[in-house]
Amino acid sequence: MTGLSDSFQRPINYLRISVTDRCNLRCAYCMPLDGIHPMPHADILTYEEIYTVAKAAAAAGINKVRLTGGEPLVRLGLPELVRMLAGIEAIDDISMTTNGILLARYATELKSAGLRRVNVSLDTLKDERFRSITRGAYGVADVLEGIKAAKSAGLKPVKINVVVMAGMNDDELIDFAAKTIDDEWHIRFIEHMPFGDGASAASFVSVNDMRKNIETLGQLEPCQAGVGNGPAKYFRFPGAKGTVGFITPVTEHFCFQCNRLRLTSDGKLRPCLLSENEIDLRKPLRSGISSEELKLLIEKAAACKPLQHHLSEGRVPKDRPFSQVGG
Ligand code: SAM
Ligand code: SF4
Repeated sequence: MTGLSDSFQRPINYLRISVTDRCNLRCAYCMPLDGIHPMPHADILTYEEIYTVAKAAAAAGINKVRLTGGEPLVRLGLPELVRMLAGIEAIDDISMTTNGILLARYATELKSAGLRRVNVSLDTLKDERFRSITRGAYGVADVLEGIKAAKSAGLKPVKINVVVMAGMNDDELIDFAAKTIDDEWHIRFIEHMPFGDGASAASFVSVNDMRKNIETLGQLEPCQAGVGNGPAKYFRFPGAKGTVGFITPVTEHFCFQCNRLRLTSDGKLRPCLLSENEIDLRKPLRSGISSEELKLLIEKAAACKPLQHHLSEGRVPKDRPFSQVGG
């Protein structure tokens, strides 16, 4: 097999880069109630360091990169990083996961820097509820403006990520699903992973239950993913312009198809979202490691990928909140 692969022969071609641990929201299921202690700025990789890692990763076999956070758009000058990454020949897909709040401001600049597409997180269409979930100073209208701006800038497809929790937003599944019929929304409903504060069995909703609820609107037909080959399974209502996707990290894990490595904002390479194992790249980067040695470290991280996570046995990482790993 050519390119990068792990010890279970899974091809690894996707790097998710968390560019910051900071965020302009504090979603109840993602951030601890008392917020996070932000990392010192000196601990966070510079754009130049991120570029160096991405270049070595590309030499190892990575061709897809996603920027995430925290909230990636709160880091100043992010389009410049996109431009740097777009200049790496082997990388042919740069995307971003964002809460959308700052997207209206940056969409055009991001597109011309080389960003291809965005996933926008939006868990409710009700403004008061949005403010309560996100515990911030913004409203649904800010996110909707961001989605509109992303579409008109050509950052397509815009996929909307909805983490579903009982008592939080499970009464809105139909409202979201209806938006795929007339408004060409591409919605992905995600099972909540039991990290930190938001972890309660009572609030968990399985994709099976979500689907039963949504199908009261009509029969869903399987369809192709469009762009990207992530873990979601896609469906469409007959005649609908948009799609309904489901992501089942808990009830039907997709570890056997996992193609990812994650880089945290403080420079640790994390072979699995749901394992605490990390390989430090920051110290070697700041001690003048060669690109060949860096590539070897990236290959070592790929080789350490576990076969699967152990959420079903209640084993969850406790070292970092979700916002620090990037989702
Ligand atoms: N701030 C950006 C955003 O919200 O899109 C990027 C970072 S956020 C950590 C990435 C994704 O992780 C979001 O779609 C968020 O809803 C999701 N997420 C956070 N905590 C989660 C959890 N416990 N289970 C499932 N998804 C989660
Ligand atoms: Fe911030 Fe995204 Fe976490 Fe919400 S889900 S607190 S927007 S990092």
